[in-house]
Amino acid sequence: MKVRFLGTSSAIPTNDRGLPSILIKTLGDSILLDCGEGTQRQMIKAGESLMKIQNVVITHLHGDHFFGLLPLIQTLGILRKSSELHIIGPSDLEDIIRRIENVTGSRHQFKISFDEIKISKIFSLNKFLLEFFPVNHAGFETYGVKIREKEKPGRFDPEKADKLGVPPILRGVLQKGYSVKLPNGRIVKPQEVMGPPREGPVLVYSSDTRPVESVINKASGADMLIHEATYLNELKDRAIMTGHSTALEAGEVAKAANVKMLVLTHFSARYREEDLAKFKKEASKAFDGEIIVAKDFMTINL
Ligand SMILES: [Zn+2]
Ligand SMILES: [Zn+2]
Repeated sequence: MKVRFLGTSSAIPTNDRGLPSILIKTLGDSILLDCGEGTQRQMIKAGESLMKIQNVVITHLHGDHFFGLLPLIQTLGILRKSSELHIIGPSDLEDIIRRIENVTGSRHQFKISFDEIKISKIFSLNKFLLEFFPVNHAGFETYGVKIREKEKPGRFDPEKADKLGVPPILRGVLQKGYSVKLPNGRIVKPQEVMGPPREGPVLVYSSDTRPVESVINKASGADMLIHEATYLNELKDRAIMTGHSTALEAGEVAKAANVKMLVLTHFSARYREEDLAKFKKEASKAFDGEIIVAKDFMTINL
């Protein structure tokens, strides 16, 4: 799983930071997690293919998290995308998109399918399982999401393949999960040369929220927690008022959930690039695991 940050600012963009969007990719599937204004340009700058987006998740309907979706859909129409685009979001999202498409005369050949976020449901995508949970964003309907990559195939064992006499040209076929026939007629099944399936990594994204129990529960033991840190703790009053978190609070959530890695994002535009080291320092007062301050275009492999 590759996690690429396309926008790490909150509310308004800055010279260095775009509005919230995170691209999650694995072989054969991808999710765009939130789609702030300018996301398509960020993807182009990042060298990521717009045409390969399969799923878009919108965590809440604050403009900075989804105003980039319509221009992206328009571009995909112009580029003649043919495969379906799957969008998961709050209940009003489908109506908003359909209405704007109607009044602007937007035409595209590809189909858009919508799913409304439901907290009791596990969404099974091609390669990912998604679970949503409510967070605490000043009373505004907002969801965090837990993303698990489905089971990955076991590791290929070259020694076993050597013993069975599998020629190199057939090994890739076995790794893809297909049986092969050797020149001597013997059939080799993938499980004869592959280890047991491996559990896929787990990522939890808090979206915009105060520190909240639902994030701690869902992120328990997760490989990565992406938690918003809009402010430093000196502006905690403002964080409370606007339904956001401080870097210290994000660290406290990561500690309580015992995650392996904390990634901070969604920084207020008042902070400059050189201020961001303070976010890491502040979060580390509460959490002694790995802390990363997200930057636009940064990629983390999970
Ligand atoms: Zn936001
Ligand atoms: Zn918000």
